[in-house]
Amino acid sequence: MAIKDIVIYPEGAEVLRAHSKPVGHITPRAKDVVEDLKETLAAHPEGIGLAAPQIGVTIRVVAVRLHGGDRDSAPGPPMVLINPEILEARERRRDFDGCLSLPGLYGETTRPHYLRVTGVDESGSSFDEVFQGFDAVVVHHELDHLDGVLFIDRAAGLEDLYHVRVKEDGRAVRVPLSRPRRDNDRERKSLRFSVEA
Ligand SMILES: [Zn+2]
Repeated sequence: MAIKDIVIYPEGAEVLRAHSKPVGHITPRAKDVVEDLKETLAAHPEGIGLAAPQIGVTIRVVAVRLHGGDRDSAPGPPMVLINPEILEARERRRDFDGCLSLPGLYGETTRPHYLRVTGVDESGSSFDEVFQGFDAVVVHHELDHLDGVLFIDRAAGLEDLYHVRVKEDGRAVRVPLSRPRRDNDRERKSLRFSVEA
């Protein structure tokens, strides 16, 4: 097993925009993907979720690190969801979003804060679980990846997206995408296309 390179958007658009296939049986190959996902997520402490397409494998497997209701606490160990299906989604509201495949880019999206999901865990047992609060946001974000949906698609517009840059004095500042920046023109155009596509 190994820590894999994370597929970055837009260079890796082909795999990140693909519709991932269900896992038929938990074969040794699928187990390898589960271990790779967990190891790769663990190697990125700033990340709280990772989907198989983000390591280049288009199967329906994600790993999430949950806060268990207290988003100020450190997230727990990776939990693996195989063939996850949403049974119930409600309490949609705006919240923070970001993605290891879009490094340095953050935003606000509208997602359910109550999510009931069924699927299979990494031992092959089926589960039926309710995720609430920011945990629901994280699970919803990862499940989106299995259908080729990125968080920029869920932003209402460019004004809801921003970069974080660290200034010379160490302070992190938000740089809105909507502010005209000559060096950012190409990026802004490609993101505008993504948001509207
Ligand atoms: Zn993501």
